[in-house]
Amino acid sequence: MVTYSAPLDDMRFLLHEVLNYDNTVANLPGYEDASRDVVDAVLEEGAKFCEKELLPLNLSGDQEGCVLENGVVRTPKGFREAYQHFAEAGWTGMACAPDYGGQGLPKSLHLLLQELICSTNLSFGTYPGLSHGVYNAVVLHGSAAQKERYLPHLTDGSWSGTMCLTEPHCGTDLGLIRTKAEPSGDGYRITGTKIFISAGEHDLTENIVHLVLAKLPDAPPGIRGISLFIVPKFLVNGDGSLGPRNGVSCGALEHKMGIKASATCVMNFDGAEGVLVGEPHKGMRYMFTMMNTARMGVGIQGLGLAEAAYQSAAAYAKDRLQGRALSGAKYPDKAADPIIVHPDVRRMLMTMRALNEGARALALWVGMAEDVAERHEDSAAREAADDLVSLMTPVIKAFLTDAGFEVTNLGMQVFGGHGYIHEWGMEQLVRDARIAMIYEGANGIQALDLVGRKMPLHMGRLLRRFFHPVQAFLEDNQDDPEMAEMVMALAKAFGRLQQATAWIAQQGLSDPEEAGAAATDYLRLFALVALAYMWARMAKASQAQLNGTRPAFHTNKVVLARFFMTRILPESSALFAKIMAGKDTMMAMPQEAF
Ligand SMILES: Cc1cc2nc3c(=O)[nH]c(=O)nc-3n(C[C@H](O)[C@H](O)[C@H](O)COP(=O)(O)OP(=O)(O)OC[C@H]3O[C@@H](n4cnc5c(N)ncnc54)[C@H](O)[C@@H]3O)c2cc1C
Repeated sequence: MVTYSAPLDDMRFLLHEVLNYDNTVANLPGYEDASRDVVDAVLEEGAKFCEKELLPLNLSGDQEGCVLENGVVRTPKGFREAYQHFAEAGWTGMACAPDYGGQGLPKSLHLLLQELICSTNLSFGTYPGLSHGVYNAVVLHGSAAQKERYLPHLTDGSWSGTMCLTEPHCGTDLGLIRTKAEPSGDGYRITGTKIFISAGEHDLTENIVHLVLAKLPDAPPGIRGISLFIVPKFLVNGDGSLGPRNGVSCGALEHKMGIKASATCVMNFDGAEGVLVGEPHKGMRYMFTMMNTARMGVGIQGLGLAEAAYQSAAAYAKDRLQGRALSGAKYPDKAADPIIVHPDVRRMLMTMRALNEGARALALWVGMAEDVAERHEDSAAREAADDLVSLMTPVIKAFLTDAGFEVTNLGMQVFGGHGYIHEWGMEQLVRDARIAMIYEGANGIQALDLVGRKMPLHMGRLLRRFFHPVQAFLEDNQDDPEMAEMVMALAKAFGRLQQATAWIAQQGLSDPEEAGAAATDYLRLFALVALAYMWARMAKASQAQLNGTRPAFHTNKVVLARFFMTRILPESSALFAKIMAGKDTMMAMPQEAF
């Protein structure tokens, strides 16, 4: 079984000792009530719910999966009750506006709750996760009538939502979609087939609100011709009550590698009634505006699973007896020493933990910037925060999901053969982690977004939102002997990142394939430098507290920071070499040779 206890200590450390939550988020207009006490209470309640209600359903949900019977999808045993409790406790409306019945809490706090959900039951989390995505889209782009009709139900969790983008012949290139929208009366008739639709059909809520990308008859070709529609499973009467079934149904459930309790559906739209969101042909633009939040959410999926893997592996390594310590028996009274004495097992555990805690810090830093971008009174501060969020979103989505897979895989390795056996739960974490590298824009596409869109935007202004604070940190700490090791390691890797950035910017201008060839390595280099910056800040905050009330916690943080700098960050040098090698060997072989 997976061992898990919500990492609240670490979350509080980040909020209050490293990232200055009180003066960054709690002082924003509208968040006056989200004080330290409220935040702590919310996290504690969320942790209780996830540990007690969601974790026990994770393994059984994976075993049972979802079942399609006569057009109805049944979620695994216990999911309905857990969802009901989740909605009743107000978790579906945590980050929704009070105008629609929500609690209006900061996005950054919601991000922390999402991590807890993903650690304990990622499949379950996909249902409210998708609903919140639909909520965000309607808040940003829906009409007043659409907001009034749909948002209170998405907030209280009685209705859920889906994103219907993918079709059999197109995923990344949505300009190719064929689903049609024909004007009819006040609305539209939607016809087409969507595949891989998460939460497309299920038994958790009384209605499902599908957000569907489709083309109007006069649509220009490509992504400029896509419009966005709301298509409910049950039509909604004028008085808000549920009407007859709409022409949308689940044709099949996909059989897949992981997240088996999340219903992945083929959805058939047979002249289903829909209403247009916003203006015609602007559907992709609307999807893009909500992508930051959705992609951050998927990054968090990787982190959540990785945390569950680390905690389980650490507990197992302290318990499993095999071999003797190289330095001599540590427990001579026992038949063997626990495997945690072996340096190679330590290597795995330390790597897992250093990646997780670094990733959590990075995600929270950027999550708090999302709150600033939305709420700050000063437009320049909003713009700066928004730039940082845009820049870092592909980095967080891709790196945290890559790391999620790496870390869960290491967790399985720590368990040896038992990790490969279903009942221990470790192989499920690996399988569940894999999809996050693919959906919400495959990780290769995130790298292209970073290099092709974010890097050149506003003449490098977005990049400067990250480069400047790193530079300032290095300058501020260059004379601090306690920080010398951190500053030197960060400065070296940062120098490589700056050089690689300049090289790609220059090469990419004359040959876009050079930028494409460098993109994935560049994103990883970027992420490692960002994690190094976070680790340096965590080390700094911890050093100040070494003689405080929690010396062990802070001492361990400094040890982990040193591990990151000396055992993980040096990968930046190999990545730099790969980037500078250019596209030649990658593109030289003729296509027929493959
Ligand atoms: C379990 C699951 C749940 C999902 N949930 C949803 C959902 O709720 N709603 C929804 O609409 N979709 C959903 N999807 C679909 C998912 O978003 C797509 O699978 C994903 O976007 C990739 O599209 P594709 O599968 O068509 O791959 P393709 O687009 O065919 O890509 C294949 C490979 O080629 C690469 N590639 C493609 N184009 C380029 C390019 N221009 N440059 C460089 N590399 C490129 C990609 O990075 C990828 O590695 C889900 C998928 C799964 C498996």
